[in-house]
Amino acid sequence: MFFPITKPILESMTDQNHYPDLSPVSTGLKGKCPRCGRGSLFNGFLEIAEKCSSCELDFEFADAGDGATWFVMVIASTLTMGAVLWVEFSYQPAYWVHALVAIPLALGLPLLLLRPGKAILVNQQYKTEAAPGQIDLDK
Ligand SMILES: [Zn+2]
Repeated sequence: MFFPITKPILESMTDQNHYPDLSPVSTGLKGKCPRCGRGSLFNGFLEIAEKCSSCELDFEFADAGDGATWFVMVIASTLTMGAVLWVEFSYQPAYWVHALVAIPLALGLPLLLLRPGKAILVNQQYKTEAAPGQIDLDK
């Protein structure tokens, strides 16, 4: 049985021969390139760079969309509300104490989690070759 090898498969095999198989989570937590794990994925706080500074991988494929934002919103709001409820049921403090607990968590957790969350999704997108669906109108 003959299976024609297409160009993307050949490029993918070439990548596997030259670059190690990296975990999307470990490279994402570091904000590094999904192919080589050395160059930075970002050109700023949340802006994806045009290409890797180390292996020249074009990051045009990278589109995390609202995925990272959604995960961070759910995780940060759950942790913040959990902390507020724990403080309330444990100490019944004044409202200003709740403000001291909730405001730093509500502002700090998203800032802390958004960059690695976006990088993990982009790294996972590279590894799984995920892309928007396309309709082939020729068939
Ligand atoms: Zn790279």
